[in-house]
Amino acid sequence: MMQEMLYEGKAKKVFATNNPQEVIIHFKDDATAFNGEKKDVFLDKGRVNLAFTRYFFELLHSHNIKTHIVSFLDDVSLKAKKVDIIPLEVVVRNYAAGSISKRLGFQKGMIFDPPLCEFYLKDDALGDPILCREHIRYMNTITEEELNQVEKMALEINSVLSEHMDKYGITLADFKIEFGKTIEGEIILADEISPDTCRFWIKGTMESLDKDVYREGKADLVTSYKRLADILGLNVKEVQTT
Ligand code: C5P
Repeated sequence: MMQEMLYEGKAKKVFATNNPQEVIIHFKDDATAFNGEKKDVFLDKGRVNLAFTRYFFELLHSHNIKTHIVSFLDDVSLKAKKVDIIPLEVVVRNYAAGSISKRLGFQKGMIFDPPLCEFYLKDDALGDPILCREHIRYMNTITEEELNQVEKMALEINSVLSEHMDKYGITLADFKIEFGKTIEGEIILADEISPDTCRFWIKGTMESLDKDVYREGKADLVTSYKRLADILGLNVKEVQTT
């Protein structure tokens, strides 16, 4: 049973349960961009993002990648193992876009082969700054060995997701994931994977079916996410209106 709220983030709420080793994660309809500077609410977004998260996490499970998922409860919430989130946003890039293009002038679409794995500090107040390994060493949040493990897992996840999306004519340009440490000290994939956290491009045209449509004000967010769901054959239930 759901109990007190432990945490509220920009797109999710986390609740305690009767089991101290499990939490319930509720997906909100809120969308934010540019570190919370742009904010909106989109009817059905929580439901759609949970459907994608389920789809991608089940795919990763089938490739023996360990995640925090215990079960899916309803259209907007899942039960997860309680973990200590490692305060790193792990970004894998196959193609240049977004902040790396802005920061380094890499043209959008430039290929990274092998893929790039970057780490950002998960800290809204500091604006999630990029980190190098030397910085992480001084943070005492993760050992060198654990960081290597996180990087290896992130690149494996990239291979699984990229190959999968490729079959549907979609390029996975980049994505952000988060890892957590269980009570037993095991590092597992946490948080979500959805068009909020990935860049998905239609092959050939590089048309975005992800949060860039919202960041750039190019198309309706939920409509674009549902277009991607259709391409994947993912059944995203319609919101019930009474
Ligand atoms: O903005 P940037 O180019 O660094 O983002 C890289 C990838 O990580 C994009 O897919 C973006 O949606 C995702 N991301 C995220 N949450 C953040 C920052 C980036 O999901 N706080």
